[in-house]
Amino acid sequence: MSLEAQYDPDNIFAKIIRGDIPSVKLFETDAVLAFMDVFPQSEGHCLVIHKQATATNLFDVDADVLATLMAAVQKLARAVRDGLSPDGIRIAQFNGAPAGQTVYHLHFHIIPVYEGRALGAHASGGPADAESLEKVAAKIRAAL
Ligand code: AMP
Repeated sequence: MSLEAQYDPDNIFAKIIRGDIPSVKLFETDAVLAFMDVFPQSEGHCLVIHKQATATNLFDVDADVLATLMAAVQKLARAVRDGLSPDGIRIAQFNGAPAGQTVYHLHFHIIPVYEGRALGAHASGGPADAESLEKVAAKIRAAL
């Protein structure tokens, strides 16, 4: 998918927003949704998306929407920090398939990093089971 790709209203995150497929939610407002990444690279890997913006990547989005999104990223990153006590936190966002993007609805990754534990591969491997995601999500939610 190129940097100029058209937004597909049936992408997997659009389906999550509509409730067509399940997700482990962390918080939701009229504008944003935060939820657990189902192929986590580390314990607590989660995602933030805008619910109305039909942006595939960073280049498509209005600055005011981006500001709302980034405020949510900061809020969630603080909760990950306080709820899970990682040694570091990586914030990531990929634009275009060659850069590693696999879902074409603009999103930010919050990836906790724990010393001595290698990060898993990006968007691969088996999905985490809902029960273990829910346990980690509860710790993050409690810190929001
Ligand atoms: P990217 O490769 O930057 O587009 O990131 C997409 C992310 O979405 C990857 O980290 C995937 O693990 C994650 N992902 C894919 N499908 C789902 C899903 N149904 N629920 C939660 N996360 C997902």
